[in-house]
Parts: sequence; C-alpha cells; structure tokens
Amino acid sequence: MNNKGNLFSKLPKVDEIISKPDIDNLIKKIPREIVIETIREEIEKLRNKIRKNEIDYDTLSEITDSISEIVIKESNKKMETKFKRVINATGVVIHTNLGRSLVSKDVMEHISEVVTNYSNLEFDLEAGSRGSRYSHLENIITRITGAEAALVVNNNAAAVMLVLGSLAKEKEVVVSRGELVEIGGSFRVPDVMEQSGAHLVDVGTTNKTHIWDYEKAIGEDTGAFLKVHTSNYRILGFTSSVDLDALVKLGQKHDIPVVEDLGSGVLIDLKKYGLEHEPTVQDSIEAGVDIVTFSGDKLLGGPQAGIIIGKKRYIDEMKRNPLTRAFRVDKFTIATLEATLREYLNEENAIKNIPTLNMITCPIEELSKKANKLKTLIDEKISNKIITRVVDDFSQVGGGSMPLERIPTKDVVIYSDNINITKLEERLRAYKVPIITRLYKEKMYMDVRTIEDMDISTIVDGIEFAVSDI
Ligand SMILES: *Cc1c(COP(=O)(O)O)cnc(C)c1O
Repeated sequence: MNNKGNLFSKLPKVDEIISKPDIDNLIKKIPREIVIETIREEIEKLRNKIRKNEIDYDTLSEITDSISEIVIKESNKKMETKFKRVINATGVVIHTNLGRSLVSKDVMEHISEVVTNYSNLEFDLEAGSRGSRYSHLENIITRITGAEAALVVNNNAAAVMLVLGSLAKEKEVVVSRGELVEIGGSFRVPDVMEQSGAHLVDVGTTNKTHIWDYEKAIGEDTGAFLKVHTSNYRILGFTSSVDLDALVKLGQKHDIPVVEDLGSGVLIDLKKYGLEHEPTVQDSIEAGVDIVTFSGDKLLGGPQAGIIIGKKRYIDEMKRNPLTRAFRVDKFTIATLEATLREYLNEENAIKNIPTLNMITCPIEELSKKANKLKTLIDEKISNKIITRVVDDFSQVGGGSMPLERIPTKDVVIYSDNINITKLEERLRAYKVPIITRLYKEKMYMDVRTIEDMDISTIVDGIEFAVSDI
C-alpha cells in the first residue's frame, strides 16, 4: 500500500506537463482542450496501472519522462479525420463497406475545378437566367442509354421510391413474388414501395411467374408493373420469369407503365470481356420499358446516385414531385457523374479509365505479375516468421452485382507457424493506411485485383511493421 501511495505521488501533474516547451508548441497547432483532455487520459491510464499493480517505479519514471511524446502522438491522432482511405485487398471490387466504386484521378481533377470555383450549377449560360441542375446530366445520359429523358437523385433506393410515389401513389404496383428482394439489409422492395404510398400486389411464386399472373392482377387501381433485377441472388433450377418484351406488350395494351429496377446498371455488354452477360440499361430501353432505375456507384463506376431514365411524360411528372427536391443531388455528384459518363462515349476509354470496369476486366497475366511482385517484395523484406505463396482464387464483383460471377484471380497468401495470423490481420487493419485482407483457415489472403500498383510498397511496409511486434 505504502509502495502504491509512493507511486501515486510520482504521477505527473497536468500543469507540469502543460508547461513543457513542446506541449506549449503543440497547443499552438491543436486546441488546448484536446491537449488537456489527452494529458488527463494518459495520467488516468498510469493511475489505473498503479491500482492494478501493473507498473513499477522504474517503468513509471520512464513513461513520465516521455509523457510529452505520448501526448503529442495521441493528440495528433485525435485531429486525424476518421473517414480515411484504406487498401482493399479483398478482391471484392464494388465493396459497399469500403466505398463501392472508386473515382478516377482524372475525374477528381475535374471535380476540384468546379467545386473550388463558382459554377453554372443552376444557371443557364446562354439565356443568362436560372437553369436546372439536372440539365447537365440529362443530355449525356439520354445519349448513352437511348432514353427520352433522365433524372438523377441521391441513390437508387430514392429513385425507386420517387418513381413509385410519382406513378403509383395510392395505386397498385404488380410485382413478381420472386423479385421481392432485400438488398444489403436496409433496402427491401416491399418496404420502399410502402413508403412511396404505392400498394404492393405480388403475383406468381418464388420460382415461377408467368405473364398471365400479371394479366390477372390488372384492375382499376393498377398503377404500374415493377420488375426488379434480382442482382444479389439467383434462384437456380426450375425457374421462369416473364421476359421484358411480354410485359412491355401487356403494359402497352392496358396503358400501364412498366418500371424496372436494374440495380447495378451496366452500360457495356461485359460478355465481350469474358464475364457473364448482365442485361444492360440499353437492353431495357430498347425493349420498351417505360422507366428504368439503377445505381451510379455499382457497375457504372461513378458516385453514389440513383439514375432514372425513360419516357419523358413520366420523368416530367417526377420532376414536379416534391420528393425530387428532398432527394436532389449535390454538385459533387453531378460533376463526378458527368465526368464518369463522358468516358462511356468511347467504350475503350470507359474500360481503361473507370476503375471499377478496369479492375473487373483486368487480364489474369497482369494479376499474376502483380501478385508475384508483391510476394517477392514481401519475401525480400520479411524472410523469417512468415511463408508466402501466390495462389489461384476467384474475385467477386460485389455490390450485389453479378452474384454468380467468379472471376479467376491471383492471391498472395501468408501463413506461419511462428505468429498468430489473426493478429497479423488485426495489425494490418490498424496500420496508418489500414489494409483490409481476408482470413480463411489460419491463412491470410490478399487478392491483387483490387490493389493498385502504387499501394504495393505500402502493403509491404505494413506487413513488415505488423510482423515486427507480434
Ligand atoms: C443496389 C440495389 C438497390 C439500391 O441501390 P442504392 O444505389 O444502393 O440505393 C436497389 N435495387 C437493386 C435491384 C439493387 O441491386
């Protein structure tokens, strides 16, 4: 007890620490309250250690001597932004938890120009009077998709809600039971429909829905037919869903709009690049679908957005809906989306310059080279403690897109008899540039598909750092 009392009296005082010259300097850069809060926390940590008999006199003196350094480091940490870049070594290209699609550096330069200056966001330069923020995008979207009109809102969930709320409020929306999907926990088709004020009429069964199921459901109150692209799962085997042509014909016959929620919204036929065929936005427009909605940050490879395209008379109705104001996109989104869409004017450019498309179409030879480079650099720096191998694996597109697509890829896998691999994964996640990897049966996997070349040295440094103190 006596001994503990002694230690407590050795604890540094807040005032003492504050008066040190380097802390005084720190306060010039960081708010005083934050520094004081940090000092108190560090003293409290020491006090707890004394209470639990976890510290002796010498260690306490050592820590007390270097307390300024600790306070500087911890205070600086508090000033770092919490939202920061990470390295995605999971191979999931459109990783919703890691920010979905990447914006290319070129596009970013353009955004910087329009948002650090005034812009014609809602100003018609020709007329010299008020313009519409949607006009910048409508032209390029209709050119690429072949649709009559377009409108962009915050995300695809908002797009679906706006469409149903405009075309089918207090009316019935007929949808196949096999398409009542949930996407990522918070987007359930039935819930969104209910919020929009439309009433759901589900027809058919989970695995089979026929055109006569839709036809039988038509009544006085039918407001729309809805098709939902079940992009994040597939029912395999004995299934049948109504093809778009038949549904469009039925809609036209009864003057009922056909709405399609495409989810991913791919604008290029990816079959050419060895991937499974995913129906394109243009396919739906060509088939005569009245309204199509899709995400901006899935396979399109742009910013978070919900894109609504189709017949002008319906889009005009949506533009008048007050919800459009609530769902409106900001100038960052407009700038990013327009610059991304410009790449689509030339398919080659789109594949080369849009990171999402570039990653999912990356040839295996390139991935193999990248994996071998990463392995070699790791081996050169860290030759003991861990074993590395390059192995075959499959990447996923992610974001609920192309669920069955398994794209052959190369992983660098790390395992060890000397260190705890779970610890390694944790340390990498806590690295100054967090590195997100995958654990499977005591091995750590890094799929190089989602790793940029310039990140390789950071990963090697991260592993060296992580291994050094496990
Ligand atoms: C992803 C997805 C949505 C939601 O899109 P967000 O842009 O994330 O709001 C809606 N419908 C389908 C079919 C989807 O795949």
